[in-house]
Amino acid sequence: MSSFDAVVIGGGLVGAALSYGLARRGLAVAMLDEGDLALRASRGDFGLVWVQGKGLGQPEYARWSRRASVQWPEFAAELADLTGVDSVYSRPGGLLVALSEAELAGYVEMLETLRREAGNDGYDYELLDHRALSERLPGVGPEVPGATYCPYDGHANPLRLLRALHAGFVAKGGRYFPEQAAQRIEAHDGGFRVHTEARVFDGARVVVAAGLGSPKLGAAVGLAVPVVPLQGQLMVTERSAPRFDLPTNLVRQTNEGSFLLGYSQEDLGFDIGTHAPTLRDIAWRCSRAFPFLRDLRVVRAWGALRIMTPDGFPVYAQSVSHPGAFAVTCHSGVTLAANHALDVGGWIADGAIPAEQACFGLERFDVSPAA
Ligand SMILES: Cc1cc2nc3c(=O)[nH]c(=O)nc-3n(C[C@H](O)[C@H](O)[C@H](O)COP(=O)(O)OP(=O)(O)OC[C@H]3O[C@@H](n4cnc5c(N)ncnc54)[C@H](O)[C@@H]3O)c2cc1C
Repeated sequence: MSSFDAVVIGGGLVGAALSYGLARRGLAVAMLDEGDLALRASRGDFGLVWVQGKGLGQPEYARWSRRASVQWPEFAAELADLTGVDSVYSRPGGLLVALSEAELAGYVEMLETLRREAGNDGYDYELLDHRALSERLPGVGPEVPGATYCPYDGHANPLRLLRALHAGFVAKGGRYFPEQAAQRIEAHDGGFRVHTEARVFDGARVVVAAGLGSPKLGAAVGLAVPVVPLQGQLMVTERSAPRFDLPTNLVRQTNEGSFLLGYSQEDLGFDIGTHAPTLRDIAWRCSRAFPFLRDLRVVRAWGALRIMTPDGFPVYAQSVSHPGAFAVTCHSGVTLAANHALDVGGWIADGAIPAEQACFGLERFDVSPAA
């Protein structure tokens, strides 16, 4: 049996960011991952580090997303210095591109509400009409009435980020155990045992960060994590000359020249396939917004499963019945990676989630039967 200060279950963007955050504080950490056949959102996402529109009705989540945007430059530089792996992060701001006047009005209403809810924190955004938008986004189509611009937004290469987190974790002394699917967690005096088929990992703390595998694992230690899959499909084009560095809700150009076209949101259970009608819809919306895309070949399309809580907000929870057991999940694992490494890793190391983050606890899902 191997003993650690913390055993993190899940080596996706969430588990890896937390593991890195714990290891950079000097804890001895084991990060277990199920392996290549697992459902892995982190290998299929769009790569936005996005704030615009996040946290409607939950100002703490809006603040949390903005904090990520503030922390990302330092976080990306730290990882690159440590590992030599560049996450290709940039924060030029981002655009919600509208395909109709009604859609544009909806974006403005949403951002005005966020501005009101932000109070003294303020919330910057600009409304761009077609002409102003064309200056910032060469090639935008004539049918686009405008967009909203938010300076907090950016993008990164999510696969490189994942690689950097794993490399940074190992550089800080962490130990990665791939192909080790946790089968159960057993609590004992002073800690937890995580059983895989072949091994047992002993940890003073255990962190359930297994994405869609979390509900099954957390239950044994009082962590009922109510997540479900929400499918998304994406496409990527062949490379072409740089056009714009500004990421948008529909399309972003990578530093290598490809355009990523996104994305769908469908309840398809655990289906990770691609489907022609969905891809057609994505292609139609993206090429209306950016007609030049019609001249580029799509080289790959894929589906992946988001990990969704009922209200769409993240979970940062410590078990009441089994202190020392934590659950962490979210559907913005690229955006929040900086916070997970720099903040949440510290909370878990200290054994306490700050009171102001209680809104992200599991208690919010406890619904008492009506009297
Ligand atoms: C189409 C799409 C687009 C997205 N776009 C963005 C975006 O632009 N910006 C953004 O911020 N986020 C985006 N996301 C969300 C982001 O990808 C996820 O929030 C993030 O990847 C979640 O990371 P995770 O580690 O929780 O989950 P996963 O990547 O699913 O990782 C979970 C890990 O747990 C492991 N595991 C499961 N069960 C066990 C077990 N029993 N034992 C051991 N290991 C186990 C699996 O092997 C897996 O590696 C997008 C997601 C999708 C699907």
